[in-house]
Amino acid sequence: MTLKISHLVSVALFAATFAACSDDEGPAPVPSDTVSVTPTAETVPVKGNKDAADDPAIWVNPDDPEQSLIIGTDKKNGLVVYDLSGAIVYQNADGRMNNVDVRSGYPITTDNGNPDTATPTIIVAATNRTSKTIAVYAMNPNTGALSDIMVDPIPSNMEDPYGLCLYRSAVNGKLYVYANDKDGTVSQWQLYDNGLGQLRYTIQRIWSVGSQPEGCVADDANGVVYIGEEGKGIWRYGAEPKDSFNERTSVDKTGLGNASGGHLAADVEGLALYAPPAAAPDVGYLIASSQGNHTYVVYDRAVPHAYRGTFQIVDNSSGDVDGVQETDGLDVVSAPLGSDYPAGLLVVQDGDNKTVDGSDANQNFKYVSWADVAEALGLE
Ligand code: CA
Ligand code: CA
Ligand code: CA
Ligand code: CA
Ligand code: CA
Repeated sequence: MTLKISHLVSVALFAATFAACSDDEGPAPVPSDTVSVTPTAETVPVKGNKDAADDPAIWVNPDDPEQSLIIGTDKKNGLVVYDLSGAIVYQNADGRMNNVDVRSGYPITTDNGNPDTATPTIIVAATNRTSKTIAVYAMNPNTGALSDIMVDPIPSNMEDPYGLCLYRSAVNGKLYVYANDKDGTVSQWQLYDNGLGQLRYTIQRIWSVGSQPEGCVADDANGVVYIGEEGKGIWRYGAEPKDSFNERTSVDKTGLGNASGGHLAADVEGLALYAPPAAAPDVGYLIASSQGNHTYVVYDRAVPHAYRGTFQIVDNSSGDVDGVQETDGLDVVSAPLGSDYPAGLLVVQDGDNKTVDGSDANQNFKYVSWADVAEALGLE
């Protein structure tokens, strides 16, 4: 009964928000509890014009956190690697890369698998829509340079390889890549060391989420993968190859403002996990881009993924970094990355980047201090 009453109250609040908004262009209304944060920095715009930047991945430099790197996709050109000031440190033109993810410390051997040769390697994977493959690179931690590490490229067997995320199993250390197709197909491959300094792949599972997915993120410690179905909501699946894809749990739904809806305004886009490595595996948050109303929704990492609030990213007070609209991909880390990011960094794609004088610029990525998000939302 209590649940029903609070539900009615929130529906009434949404109705008020809708009534106040008569503009049918522009974003869908935001919930009345939406809070605002500002970006700390932004990257150099991507080369591609119009809709081009899409998805970031953050690599935390364990030796010097202020030298951490952000890998972003330019879906008209390739991958771009930025430093924490937003400057470009490396870029390639390997194809129309859509989504990208990273895992560090994956051991790769040489000398026919001699364990003494195992070298912890930073693995970067991306969906390449030009070659319809899954591109997999080793990243140089000092220069950000990406070198192809596959013996053979992974054929996606997809019409349009789209979303992508990596999963490193806490059960056995195996490394997997998930990719999805606009038609709803999800595929999971295992990547494995060939003992000669490169990786091979084997397909593990193929299934359908129903309709167009994209954003996905794995929770390595908990062995689950979250997949966004753009028009519908967020699903949680078991991430191990033996897990049944017929069993899934709804985390949240689109249809914000409707009586039966959730906290998301379609499309559901990027998903990311704020997961402090030293904390218990149920501590942290899942963050989703609610693209339809230019907001981000935060949930508990722990089941049942309680709603913790909604935020938007607005122009900063000095006016040199603009706010964020229509975010596609995003990523977050909990590691302190220097005084600007003491509780970690959130990176989001900005669909409508502006220059300082307010004119249109090519898209880019914005950097937000997680401490600002946590304070605005009252997260502990
Ligand atoms: Ca990503
Ligand atoms: Ca999308
Ligand atoms: Ca903007
Ligand atoms: Ca996208
Ligand atoms: Ca800007």
